Amino acid sequence: MIRFSQYNLKLNMIICRLFIVLLFTANMAISQSSILIKNGKILDGTGNTWFLSDVLISNGVIRKISKNIEVSADLIIDARGQIVAPGFIDVHGHIEGGIQSKPTAENYIYDGVTTVVTGNCGNSADDLNSFFKRLDSNGVSINVASLVGHNTIRGKVLKMENRAPTNQEQVQMENLVAEGMKAGAVGFSTGLIYVPGTFSKTEELIGLSKQSAKYGGLYVSHIRDEGDSVHVAIDEAIRIGREAQLPVEISHFKITGKHNWGSSVKTLWQVEAARRAGIDVTIDQYPYTAGSTNLHSRIPSWALAGGNDSLHYRLMSPHIKTKIIEEMETELHKNLNTDYSFAVVAFCSRDTSLNGLNIHQINLRWGRPNTIKSEIETILELADKGGAQMVYHMMGEEDVRNIMRSPYCMFGADAGVPVFGRGVPHPRAYGTNARVLGKYVREEKIITLEDAIRRMTSFPAQKFGFKDRGLLKEGYKADIVIFDPKTVIDHATYELPHAYSSGFSQVIVNGKLTLDKNGHTGAKAGQVLQGQGKEKS
Ligand SMILES: [Zn+2]
Repeated sequence: MIRFSQYNLKLNMIICRLFIVLLFTANMAISQSSILIKNGKILDGTGNTWFLSDVLISNGVIRKISKNIEVSADLIIDARGQIVAPGFIDVHGHIEGGIQSKPTAENYIYDGVTTVVTGNCGNSADDLNSFFKRLDSNGVSINVASLVGHNTIRGKVLKMENRAPTNQEQVQMENLVAEGMKAGAVGFSTGLIYVPGTFSKTEELIGLSKQSAKYGGLYVSHIRDEGDSVHVAIDEAIRIGREAQLPVEISHFKITGKHNWGSSVKTLWQVEAARRAGIDVTIDQYPYTAGSTNLHSRIPSWALAGGNDSLHYRLMSPHIKTKIIEEMETELHKNLNTDYSFAVVAFCSRDTSLNGLNIHQINLRWGRPNTIKSEIETILELADKGGAQMVYHMMGEEDVRNIMRSPYCMFGADAGVPVFGRGVPHPRAYGTNARVLGKYVREEKIITLEDAIRRMTSFPAQKFGFKDRGLLKEGYKADIVIFDPKTVIDHATYELPHAYSSGFSQVIVNGKLTLDKNGHTGAKAGQVLQGQGKEKS
């Protein structure tokens, strides 16, 4: 008996010690990942004005928002005089390529972005399951959500063909959308100026969008036209929302072509009218008057059907080539341009010496006649040899401001993860949010700071279904930015785009300090954010 109770006592002591060790380890784990932000002006993302408070974060979650929190923490940040806000959600990214080679995504982190929605304009990762798995296993500094892209799936089923799908092909595409949604996509995206998406009819898109709706997703569209027929294109997006019964996001809302400038008054009214009719339509924007896409987008889409080889053969036929040139010339004049100096090469892999030059300059550099026809020949030759990424100066500042004033407008850089110093890309990749906060909020007072933060945080979180992000709220994921509203500004310009924004002193992603005063910390605490389809599958 005595022996037994001694043994028992020893066992009890061991268990007790083990318990203490476990408790201590657990405490260590909490304290190792705890951050206390003191004395900040809290802009919680709701649109309400700031209030003074402390914020305590541990294990990736906002634990407490209250005045005078007095606990020890792994890191204490004095945010006196600074704004403490939820991390920014960029709703329009194209990062599936770049994020894998550059998972630290500096351009986003230095601009206050903690979440990016990729897979836009109809182009998404080929296999979302493996894309998400790779992000998970390799680590990434920002949270990533994806859409399933129409061009990607249409390309799989119909290649680059300019025709409607057969019933069987339509079903095949619908299955691919469903597969993407079950992999965790948050919606279905289209890019209706691009091949092959441009060859689709609205009915095809309604059928595909219904699959997104079935899994709680959105319809996100780079609409068919952003110039002369922009009204028709917006109506098409609204119709898809109504008939497929799902929320609509119109991407990079803009007005292109000088002769159309000012039309944003009408296009914003279309959005307003649709909302009054009960269709959940919202929009996003990058705050610049230039856009960026490929060189091929200058060429009539019928000439691009079948892919690059088909274009090559068409260009060998003098008759077809003349027709292409005529259409391009008509388009140029219609947009009130006298040459192609509005079209600047961002990156041409075949000849990097062209980066930063516009088509007018390249044409002259190649010793060709100073005519529009010759500039078009130059474009066609460049396209035939592989094309280029371009920056197009084509929007009016008044429309940019007008669109920004819409309460239904959120922001998206429409960018990838650029290789720092490579090419002359659109500055939006680096400066979108800081530009809104510096130029448009502070300097021009187009919108208030509170509203800008709402549109960068809770609004996109609500629209895209990120249920525990986008607000500074107890229990929410600790994605947080701390910045000085008096100094925050973008530095990336069209001429020198490789420049990080400044003014953000700390960026925290899932509770991990990812940017501090010394720069990117190397933390890769980003998560894959999956839609409702993942839960249902
Ligand atoms: Zn687009």
